[in-house]
Amino acid sequence: MLFPDPTPHSRPATHPDGGWGARRPRLPAPPLDAAGARCDEDSAPVTLRSLVLSGQEEDEPRAIRAGLLSLLGTSSAAAPGDLVVDDGPCPYCARHHALVATSPTGRRTYFAVVRHTRLVVYAVSPFPVGLGLAVEDADHPGRARRPARLRAQRGSVSRGRCVRPRDGRVEYLVRYVEAEPSSDCVVSVVWEVPHAPAPSGS
Ligand SMILES: [Zn+2]
Repeated sequence: MLFPDPTPHSRPATHPDGGWGARRPRLPAPPLDAAGARCDEDSAPVTLRSLVLSGQEEDEPRAIRAGLLSLLGTSSAAAPGDLVVDDGPCPYCARHHALVATSPTGRRTYFAVVRHTRLVVYAVSPFPVGLGLAVEDADHPGRARRPARLRAQRGSVSRGRCVRPRDGRVEYLVRYVEAEPSSDCVVSVVWEVPHAPAPSGS
């Protein structure tokens, strides 16, 4: 980085969520095959799962895709084959963000996938969701958090909002992901929700 932020942790938390740099417990991403039907909506409206590739897969992209479809099917209450998956470029900006699967009943489930070596992390949510992954520099631990969350935030912007001036009608909630066994990378998850005004008097 040419111009590192000299005071990365000195900004006050102005966001109701505690600001970009707030320290919070990381959200777990349990193994995909232990997913069952339960979503993690009691803690956050995002379900995280992980997959560790064995290295023996003949077709890794297909294995990663199969994991995604199985998770989307569970979360959408639909057969994976019945989902219309839109993971193409945004029609407004041609980048890949706010990826979404639509069930036959019209239910939309947003998703994101990141991969680092053999670790694959998935996120699904009723809200536009992004995942960001950055590898730690052993000489500068902690610096991967910012690029990870910025990547995740870019993926969580709803389509159309990417080309509009920034406004306060949505907010972006940031968490970090417990993504073992890869300890050399940081995974951030961000989701976009309609802005909830702070209670009066606070
Ligand atoms: Zn866009």
